[in-house]
Amino acid sequence: MNRFFSKTCHRLIPYVPGEQPEIGQFIKLNTNENPYPPAPGVAEVLSTVAPALLRLYPDPTAKDLRTAIAAHYGVQQNEVFVGNGSDEVLAFVFQAFFGSEDAIAFPDITYSFYPVYANLYNIPYTTVPLTNAWAVDLSVYPKPLKGIVLANPNAPTGLTLSPEVIEEALKKRPDTLFVVDEAYVDFGGASVIPLVHSYSNLLVVKTMSKSRAFAGMRVGYAVGQSDLLEGIIRVKDSFNSYPLDIIAQKAATASFQDTPYFEQRRQQVIETRERFVQSLNEIGLSVLPSKANFVFVSKPGFDGTAILSYLRENGVLVRHFQKPRLAPWVRVTIGTDSQMSEVVDLLKKWV
Ligand code: PMP
Repeated sequence: MNRFFSKTCHRLIPYVPGEQPEIGQFIKLNTNENPYPPAPGVAEVLSTVAPALLRLYPDPTAKDLRTAIAAHYGVQQNEVFVGNGSDEVLAFVFQAFFGSEDAIAFPDITYSFYPVYANLYNIPYTTVPLTNAWAVDLSVYPKPLKGIVLANPNAPTGLTLSPEVIEEALKKRPDTLFVVDEAYVDFGGASVIPLVHSYSNLLVVKTMSKSRAFAGMRVGYAVGQSDLLEGIIRVKDSFNSYPLDIIAQKAATASFQDTPYFEQRRQQVIETRERFVQSLNEIGLSVLPSKANFVFVSKPGFDGTAILSYLRENGVLVRHFQKPRLAPWVRVTIGTDSQMSEVVDLLKKWV
């Protein structure tokens, strides 16, 4: 490490993103991207933005985009915050609401960026084991807690908690802020955004990366009561006034203006997932019940790296996680029907 690194920089253990190989080299099913393009209106924006517009700073509050998102969910525009990917929104959330004197908790198996943010901002955290059935059991979380962070559906398992279970916890712990990361909820889970008006201890974080095919443009958002969002805005305005560029704001707005296209594409991914799961079950592989655009797959008695290496040798990238309980498993993103048929054919041979 370089001698100029700060103490904080020295002790960081950064998040490691999935591999991004050259386009076309692999069937890429390792980072939960959408196999379809964004809404047609997005292409139109990209082909008509005048370069002269780039002279100007973008709207620091991204009002048009927040208005489009608010209209989609039936909330007010001051109940929506937008940032440069939900990773950035989550980072702002951790800094805005949790500090070194606070206790927070999240599952032991979940999005591996949560402990990275906690370490970055010196926030002490507890991890709570998933049950034997891979479920989040909120009744065993310690008390008191300033925050509970949940990915729903969870990653990399794909299992969901129902809004009823989350609502019960919101009632039982009014002094705990629940950050519910719904990165994958559009693929068959139920969002808790409708609960936001009733619970001041609920903050929902979402991304356009998966269900709106926007991973390359980096747009994430949070929905919560406006006085709670004030905290995130304070952090954002102490860090970067303009997290979303002019093109991203216009393109993302176009995506939210085309609900039929969004519905059609997410339904397509859900149907492909169901067919893929059925085929995997037929060839004797274990698959966790997923409501996300990925499935967690294993063959009892085998290490996940065996599946990963075999698929990689045959041109398919999937993801494996280095944690004892996850060792037998690989996470496979749902691509197009033809991509998933290819994976099934390969796995048939392997089995
Ligand atoms: N939350 C979860 C659970 C995720 O899996 C991801 C994607 N890695 C993110 C948030 C971040 O997504 P993005 O920064 O692309 O919006």
